[in-house]
Amino acid sequence: MDESFDIRNQTSGTTDREYENALRPLAFTDFGGQEKAVENLQIFVSAAKMRREALDHVLLHGPPGLGKTTLANIIANELQVGFKVTSGPVLDKPGDLAGLLTSLERNDVLFIDEIHRLSPIVEEYLYSAMEDYRIDILIDKGPSARSIQIDLAPFTLVGATTRSGLLTSPLRARFGINLHLEYYDIRTLAAIVLRSADILRILCKDSAAHEIASRSRGTPRIANSLLRRVRDFAQVKGDGRIDKDITCYALEALNIDRYGLDRIDNRLLTTIIDKFSGGPVGLTTIATALGEDPGTLEEVYEPFLIKEGFLKRTPRGREVTALAYSHLQRQRPVGFPSLFD
Ligand code: ADP
Repeated sequence: MDESFDIRNQTSGTTDREYENALRPLAFTDFGGQEKAVENLQIFVSAAKMRREALDHVLLHGPPGLGKTTLANIIANELQVGFKVTSGPVLDKPGDLAGLLTSLERNDVLFIDEIHRLSPIVEEYLYSAMEDYRIDILIDKGPSARSIQIDLAPFTLVGATTRSGLLTSPLRARFGINLHLEYYDIRTLAAIVLRSADILRILCKDSAAHEIASRSRGTPRIANSLLRRVRDFAQVKGDGRIDKDITCYALEALNIDRYGLDRIDNRLLTTIIDKFSGGPVGLTTIATALGEDPGTLEEVYEPFLIKEGFLKRTPRGREVTALAYSHLQRQRPVGFPSLFD
């Protein structure tokens, strides 16, 4: 499995980012799926707009690539206000945050990605900004040091995190709107693929979009990346059009798993099967065996495997299912229920 194309790491370069930005929906009407979260958000945005007030602070949490940055952008567009972007690890000094906050205009949106990675000192600084639109700035050093208070324009903080478990409770409590993004179903993902193909002026058959969607791990970012790779195959090996045959050919060539599982998903399942007889086994034990962080496994990897029926959380630990055995072509232990029991 190790030589397979690692689709999750396909979005770090500049052209990847440009590609992502070109496909990013700019309005609620273009954003497919997440109906519940979007419906609520639309109401809160309309109400804030009617009252000409800043929208309450919004926390978006969920696995990578599900549309948190996109939604933050849409919120600012729909409110017709300015949008500034930063991320937790970038803001390492309170001064960086102060500079950003004082540059915001009335009702603007400030987006902080990976907000769980803010340093404690910057986080504390954010509290009064979020609560009272006010910050204290320390001027001078030594005995003449004093702090002055600066009023900020009312603003909306949109925070995004893949690891909501790492957020401190005081920070979490300061978000009035708290939304969890779910994995997408295949129908919605196929519609996203067709929309992206349309923007890129690629002819893509419904059946091909469905095939790409079913191997995208419930994630629009992966669906868009796969579309791009399949387009390359269609151009070189075919006439540029994307149909089901060329899609299957390309996905096979790239070693994309039939269920969209990636390298870590597959390693997690094989480790439980090969080293722990299929489980039950505790999360920290698996994490140690894999050399991964237990929290990342729990919040980023496990939810999809559980949703798709490869893994179960039991009071005694994690257990793989019959589907995991059959997918990885491993022999089930004697007495293990089969897929059809
Ligand atoms: P996150 O911030 O959660 O990691 P992004 O917002 O950056 O994810 O989304 C990744 C890519 O997936 C973007 O290119 C975006 O265009 C696309 N995308 C995400 N959600 C949707 C959606 N609901 N409809 C259409 N495209 C989407």
